[in-house]
Amino acid sequence: MTHGRFQRKACASMIGPTNVFRVVSVASLPRTSLLPRRAEDEHLPDACVRTISPWRRRYRQAVPLRGGRDCCWYHGGDWHVASSLAVRLLREAARGGEADQDELGYQVVTAGRTVDLPGWERKAFESLLNDPICLEDGEYINGRHRASAMMAAGVRATVVQVVLWEE
Ligand SMILES: [Zn+2]
Repeated sequence: MTHGRFQRKACASMIGPTNVFRVVSVASLPRTSLLPRRAEDEHLPDACVRTISPWRRRYRQAVPLRGGRDCCWYHGGDWHVASSLAVRLLREAARGGEADQDELGYQVVTAGRTVDLPGWERKAFESLLNDPICLEDGEYINGRHRASAMMAAGVRATVVQVVLWEE
């Protein structure tokens, strides 16, 4: 995890498109399709890379799961806490009119430092700004594991970046 200025991955390394922070409904995020697993997912248990079915997403919206499991980092804490803080602070920061998305993310992370959070939830919250779940044309560029874990927990809304191309 980086601090201060942001390390933005594939999501931001292209020339031309703009990555814009958005608050989105988790239930309406694209399917995560974590299988077949990538080499770096080899250590993850089957349950951690299972795609969350539309039925299960709806069920978990009604019956949310809180707290963490010890299977992997992605399921290791309460995404409701991390996400709701990111959503609230992004909305507050956006009201200030900041258009530069790096600066906006920086302001949200900075505001989050004044909030008392357990270690996992802080890391999860900051990950949503520093290494955002990123979507382009309804496909994941980054963040499928976190999106999947949030779907499995029944989180309502979260912060992602969407890639917008200038006309
Ligand atoms: Zn897991």
